Order: sequence, then C-alpha cells, then structure tokens
Amino acid sequence: MSTITSIESCATSTCAFNHDGCTAFAITVNGQGPKASCGTFVTLDARAGLPTTNGKVGACKRLECVHNSDLMCAAESIEISDKAECLSYEIR
Ligand code: SF4
Repeated sequence: MSTITSIESCATSTCAFNHDGCTAFAITVNGQGPKASCGTFVTLDARAGLPTTNGKVGACKRLECVHNSDLMCAAESIEISDKAECLSYEIR
C-alpha cells in the first residue's frame, strides 16, 4: 500500500473531531453487520483534533470490504455519513 486514505468529507457534525471536516490525525473504522462505522466518533463537549481537516484512515477492521488490505484502507478516499458510517464500505 503506497498511500494513506483521506477522509474526503464527514457529515457527522455532532462529533468533537468535526470542524467542517475531520480533524482527527487518523480514524479507526469498525462496526458490525451491514454498516461500517467510524470508531473515533465521540460526542464529548470538547474541541478535538488538529487545526486542519486532513483526517485519514489509520486502520479498518472491516476485512470483508473490497478496499481493505491488511486491516488498512486502500481506497483513494472515503466519505463519512451524518451517522458516522463509511459510505465507501462494500462487501467483497
Ligand atoms: S472503504 Fe472499506 S476498507 Fe476503507 S475505511 Fe471504509 S470500510 Fe474500511
């Protein structure tokens, strides 16, 4: 894997890391069943993350996704929904 997957957009405005985009250094994607979820999502009443919106996917536990490679994401970028779900998740 030669690139790190960017979070192109995130619509979960209730997340402490969301400031017009993802400010986390890197997120972990997990979840169960038919949806893949952002495991970094948190609703604490605090400002979290970096001053810039350059969030990346650090790890992904959804091995069955077509974009998963060695528990990392090989997609060029992903989008996160307003329910903290990975919209690029696709079962092999
Ligand atoms: S596209 Fe697939 S591999 Fe990439 S973060 Fe989403 S669920 Fe994980």
